[in-house]
Amino acid sequence: MIVDLRSDTVTQPSPAMREAIASAKVGDDVYGDDPTVNLLEEKIAHLFGKDAAVFTPTGSLANQLGIRTLVKPGEELICEANSHIVRAELGAAATFSGITTRTWTDPHGKISANRAIDIARPSSGPYLVSTTAVAVENTHNFGGGTIQDISEIKALREWSEPLGVKLHLDGARIWNAHVSSGVSLAEYGRYFDTLSVCLSKGLGAPIGSLMISDKERVAEARVWRKRYGGGMRQVGIIAAAGLFALENNISRLAEDHRRAKNLADACHEVAPNVIDPERVSTNIVGLELLGANISAAEFVTQARAEGVWMAALGPTYVRMVTHLDVDDSGIEFAKKVLRDLLQRAFVSK
Ligand SMILES: *Cc1c(COP(=O)(O)O)cnc(C)c1O
Repeated sequence: MIVDLRSDTVTQPSPAMREAIASAKVGDDVYGDDPTVNLLEEKIAHLFGKDAAVFTPTGSLANQLGIRTLVKPGEELICEANSHIVRAELGAAATFSGITTRTWTDPHGKISANRAIDIARPSSGPYLVSTTAVAVENTHNFGGGTIQDISEIKALREWSEPLGVKLHLDGARIWNAHVSSGVSLAEYGRYFDTLSVCLSKGLGAPIGSLMISDKERVAEARVWRKRYGGGMRQVGIIAAAGLFALENNISRLAEDHRRAKNLADACHEVAPNVIDPERVSTNIVGLELLGANISAAEFVTQARAEGVWMAALGPTYVRMVTHLDVDDSGIEFAKKVLRDLLQRAFVSK
C-alpha cells in the first residue's frame, strides 16, 4: 500500500471529473471565446462577491498578477515571514514587478493585525520604502494549515482602508478555511482588493487557479498574464475540471480535516511534543521533530520505505497533507507506520 501525504496537489482526476473534461465546450480563451472558462471566472467572482476573475495555470501566477496590480515598482508588499509569496515563488515579485518585500513573524503563521501594522510604513516620502499592500495567506501552508481569524483580517482592513494600503489574499486553500471556520467565501472576499484561489489543491482539479478582483484590475491582469506567456487557448478543457471541483469537492474537505486530526492525535499519543492536535483544524499536519534521534529527511526516507510518503520542509519539520485520494484505510495504515517511526525516533533512544 502507498499513502501519498506529500501534498494535496497529488490527486488524480476522478472518472467523473474526466468525463466533465471530455465533454467541455471550448473556444479560444485569448479571444475571450471559451464558454467554460468564462463560466468558471463568473462563478468564482460571484462566490467571493467580486466583479471579475481571470483563470491562470498556477496559484503562483494568480498571486503575482494580484500583487502586481496593487504595488508599483520600488514599493513594498509586507507579509508573514513564512508566506508562500516570499518563500516559494522564487523571488517573482522582485524579478517581474520590481516589488520589494518585508516580513513580520507570527507563530504558526497565524497573523496578528498589530504586528503587520507595526512594520508597515505607508506613504513614506523620499527616504523610506512605502508600504502599499499587505498579503495574507489563508490557510497558512508552512504554518501548518492555520486558519486566520476573521477578526484580525477585519482589523487589518479597518487600519489599511483609510491609508489606501491594499490587501491581497493568498487563498490557495481558502476552501479549507471556509469549510472549517464556517466563514462564507463572500465574507473572506469582502476584506481584500485581490485574491488568488487554487482548484488544484484540496479541490482535486489537475490544474488551475484564479485571480479575483474588480473589473479594472482583472483587465490589467489579463494583459500581464499574456505578457508572461500565460494566455491559454481551448483551456475550457481544464476549467471544466474546476467547475466540477466547485460543485462536488468543497464540502467533502471536512473529511480531509477529520482525517488530518486523526493522524495528529495518533502522533501526539506516541510523541506529545511533535504536534498539538488542537492546532490541526484543516488538512495539514506538521510534525516538529526537534529532539528526535533522526532528521526530518531521514524520517521521510524511512516512512517512504514503509509506503507512507510525506515531505521534509525543514531540518526538523515534516509535513503531511490529507486529500481526496486518501481514505480512512489509508489513514489507519499511515498511523501504524508513524507510531512505529515516532517510537523509534523519540521513545527508544
Ligand atoms: C500551492 C500554493 C500556491 C500556488 O502554488 P502553484 O504551485 O503555483 O499553483 C500559492 N500559495 C500557497 C499558500 C500554496 O500552498
